[in-house]
Amino acid sequence: MMNFHIAVIPGDGIGPEIMDQALLVLKEIGSIYHHEFRFSEVMMGGCAIDKKGEALPQEDLTICLKSDAVLLGAVGGEKWDHLPGDQRPERGLLRLRKELGSYANIRPAVLYKELKDACPLKSEIIGEGIDLCVVRELTGGIYFGEKGRRRGTMGEQAYDIEIYSETEIESIARTAFEVARKRNKKVTSIDKANVLESSRLWRSVMEKVAGEYDDVVLNHMYIDNAAMQLIKNPSQFDVIVTTNMFGDILSDEASMITGSIGILPSASLGEGKIGIYEPIHGSAPDIAGLDLANPIGMILSAAMMLRYSFDLESEAKSIENAVVNILGKNIRTRDIMGEGMHLVGTKEMGKLIADEL
Ligand code: ATP
Ligand code: MG
Repeated sequence: MMNFHIAVIPGDGIGPEIMDQALLVLKEIGSIYHHEFRFSEVMMGGCAIDKKGEALPQEDLTICLKSDAVLLGAVGGEKWDHLPGDQRPERGLLRLRKELGSYANIRPAVLYKELKDACPLKSEIIGEGIDLCVVRELTGGIYFGEKGRRRGTMGEQAYDIEIYSETEIESIARTAFEVARKRNKKVTSIDKANVLESSRLWRSVMEKVAGEYDDVVLNHMYIDNAAMQLIKNPSQFDVIVTTNMFGDILSDEASMITGSIGILPSASLGEGKIGIYEPIHGSAPDIAGLDLANPIGMILSAAMMLRYSFDLESEAKSIENAVVNILGKNIRTRDIMGEGMHLVGTKEMGKLIADEL
């Protein structure tokens, strides 16, 4: 019997209702496999601003730092949009990522054959389905390099510096190779090495780290070609590893080819073992409290937590299989509803997945 302590952040909007369903599924897995999951609720986001005056109060942060993993619903919403940037709900998440040193964002994009109609690509392109995973560097690159304005001879100038150091690239490379080991042992590193010096260093460090992973195949692709290949032949990819900015763009592109924002999970991992697991969608205030939200992205995020933070591969697979089986039984929430399908609400979907286990 294994014991895990999970910091649970329901957050705002649909966060709490989808979190309830993920916890239901985790409790079921715990009782089947005899693990003890201990849950501590943490306040972060708009709800924390309303109740305690800040997006991530110190005592709540402390719970996260002492936990084995953080499970997060969603934070934010228009209710807090009038606040100055440094006081918004999203600040809580930025602080949490910083404290946990989360430098890698992992976003699997899976197109289930049951949901093929949601995919904007032609079925001959989809083929056997799409199942890839984007590993994005999260704390370096052009988003964090020096930036500024100055007057030049042609008027005002603005600049953002893309800077990557060897150790940063080594870390994200190792994360990508480790993820590939849990998948199909293939990594495509995406850069712009024909133009950018930072990309040339990126490429050579990727090659160096690849030497430690003989069982994983590494290839390289330019970002412009990759953006095209994702549409033209997405099944050539397994793990994609790339910089902060290229990853920002490619992970959104990859999620859209699966057509369904409500079902995709993500993880943010750091040097330590404490990962943050959350669905890729936001707090969806337009449907909050109406039992309309799809809890699958949240439930699959819990499965990723079992896989990447707790090393519980069969438990993670069981949850993923339960989700596929439920989709195979034509059960749908409104966002993925199709003709002849059986419509259920958030709670019903969660319960059916837990029962399927
Ligand atoms: P953020 O800025 O946090 O990314 P956003 O406003 O860009 O938020 P979402 O909150 O993800 O985006 O919502 C985008 C649309 O997708 C909304 O119409 C929302 O209702 C819908 N949506 C998001 N998540 C779900 C879900 N789990 N189930 C059903 N619909 C969803
Ligand atoms: Mg958004």
